[in-house]
Amino acid sequence: MYNRRNFLRILGFSALSSALSRNIWASENKQARPNILFIMSDDHTSQAISAYGGILADICPTPNIDRIAKEGILFENCFVTNSICTPSRSAIFTGKYSHMNGVYKFTALDQSQPTLPKLMQKAGYYTALVGKYHLHSNPAGLNYWSILPGQGRYHDPEFIEMGDENPSGWVNDGKRTEYKGHSSGVIADKALDFLKNKRPKDKPFMFFCHFKAPHDTWEFARRYRNFLEDVEVPEPPNLFDDYEGRSDALKKQLQYIGSEWGDHTNFEDQTRHLKGKQKKKKQYQLYMKKYLRCVKGVDDNVGRILDYLDKSGLADNTIVIYTGDQGFFLGEHGLYDKRLMYEEALRMPFLVRWPGRIKPLSRSKGMILNVDFAPTILVASGARPHPDMQGHSFVPLLEGEIPSDWRKSMYYRYYYSHFKTEPHLGVRTYKHKLIYFNRIDQWELYDLEKDPIEMNNVYDDPDYNSIVKKLKKELKRLQTELGDDPKDIGNNPRLGALAPHDE
Ligand code: CA
Repeated sequence: MYNRRNFLRILGFSALSSALSRNIWASENKQARPNILFIMSDDHTSQAISAYGGILADICPTPNIDRIAKEGILFENCFVTNSICTPSRSAIFTGKYSHMNGVYKFTALDQSQPTLPKLMQKAGYYTALVGKYHLHSNPAGLNYWSILPGQGRYHDPEFIEMGDENPSGWVNDGKRTEYKGHSSGVIADKALDFLKNKRPKDKPFMFFCHFKAPHDTWEFARRYRNFLEDVEVPEPPNLFDDYEGRSDALKKQLQYIGSEWGDHTNFEDQTRHLKGKQKKKKQYQLYMKKYLRCVKGVDDNVGRILDYLDKSGLADNTIVIYTGDQGFFLGEHGLYDKRLMYEEALRMPFLVRWPGRIKPLSRSKGMILNVDFAPTILVASGARPHPDMQGHSFVPLLEGEIPSDWRKSMYYRYYYSHFKTEPHLGVRTYKHKLIYFNRIDQWELYDLEKDPIEMNNVYDDPDYNSIVKKLKKELKRLQTELGDDPKDIGNNPRLGALAPHDE
């Protein structure tokens, strides 16, 4: 800008030059600085997005979310670094793993850290968030926000609006305002209100639209009560996994379908006349219908937002991202919920549309992580990632390239024993996955090419001795590179002091 202005000044067109350069740069800036619409749902997993295919695609298509992939790119290997809500959201905001951002469990995010909203705001973006937040501390770096306290309610949800936060820093204690309707509809209404009325029109925006659905307890909007009514939901091939040959972790956890923990999937009233396999089959049907009715509501509401982008002309210069905060089990290994490093909970859906930059109908096998989201969005916006961020920008992958030095393995760590799910850590490559359940000192190894549904633990198979050795070395290398101490079990988080208790 300086050079161009100087050049025109030299020519003697001082007044004209500044008008001209303003116009030229305004239009160039518009191209260079796209709006960002980041849509994230809670516990929406790739098996329940029809663009990913799978056994549910025919009975529960998600045409609106699929549209993002049709007009953009779908990532087949996007992984979460710690598969639960608050830690994943914190990793997304900070670009750092749990042991570096301090959020190992359901503790509060220390907002004095550099975060995606703060850096985008600093880069000149108007930043805003509506819906599920779940970082416990008062939001920072957002020009506008309206959030659910904690998990929030499905029906007639309460919101805490910007200005109503609690001075203690514990946002859930802020003043609450009730809205009539189902949370997915109310959040989409708020998103549309933001896009139409609340944002300044002379600035690019970074807008986080976070749905509560389809988190448990899967309370769908009334209008979906007949959806899938007469449909038999297909079962995954390992619904009746007997956990043979696996560590004790799978055998002792309580996140299996029918578990009485939390009373989410046992449906006792409707299944008490049944026993054994028949009971579990029925519980699976009841669980899936509730979950998928919530998914349908999210998809329809995503459609409303995409339609508005088209109608308003915003679509051309807006990057649209759709993701879930982690993966989720839909009956695989007989499970629901997340936490475990198996594929269904580890994989996040990730779809992006960026007109003019991403070729429609693209797919990438490149391995991307939730810690990469912030650096990628910053680079795509022309800003710089913070040097503390551990993730990497995958802008080249959006454009169909996987650089030769791009990561070939990823590090995972889960700290909590909620649902009696054992803490564990591990490494996944494109071909194998090694999991170490650190508290019970047991290992599992899967050959993902031969056994993509992870039924055969080959850790003790002599044919895999050299793979085990190699992966243990890789695990250590990643721990060193990322600064994780295997002895740090997350009991004394350096940060997150605002959290009053573990939930
Ligand atoms: Ca979640």
